[in-house]
Amino acid sequence: MRIAVYPGSFDPLTNGHIDILEKTSKLFDKIIIAVVHNVTKTALFSLDERKSMILESTRHLNNIEVECFSGLLAAYVKEKNACAIIRGLRTVTDFEYEMHMALMNKVLIPEVETIFIIATHSNIFVSSSGVKEAALLGGDVSSLVPPAVFNGLTEKIKQMK
Ligand code: ADP
Repeated sequence: MRIAVYPGSFDPLTNGHIDILEKTSKLFDKIIIAVVHNVTKTALFSLDERKSMILESTRHLNNIEVECFSGLLAAYVKEKNACAIIRGLRTVTDFEYEMHMALMNKVLIPEVETIFIIATHSNIFVSSSGVKEAALLGGDVSSLVPPAVFNGLTEKIKQMK
């Protein structure tokens, strides 16, 4: 079975992430979305909130699993018996960061390949941080995120007031 891990903060999931998942779910037997606790980023949603919005938004894809994890990605990928790590690329800035991470993982787990998927042109500007910022300032982000995430954002903003 060809298993791939798609790690990320997903705070929250956007249509850009969905695009990457729709493309890669055809290439692998199973994709494990690993929702990572990133210590360098302040999260708006808890790991469980992110997980439940992802589950709701990926119902149309039948080979997706969602897990939360913290720790070393290489160890997690090995434990899951995955043959690939999936990452999305939007800009040159993404590329520099991603290349370093892929090279580091190549040292730690040489048997695993990092697969880069280029963002669809209409999603190149879409980021979780941009979506959060616009939504918190009252912008309509409904065209940038799945409905479950839009509802989650609306609820979260209501609670914060
Ligand atoms: P991280 O904190 O690991 O960067 P993100 O949730 O921001 O977590 O992103 C997870 C992965 O999805 C990264 O590889 C990122 O480049 C990719 N990604 C994020 N937004 C998009 C998008 N709009 N189109 C394509 N890939 C994206």
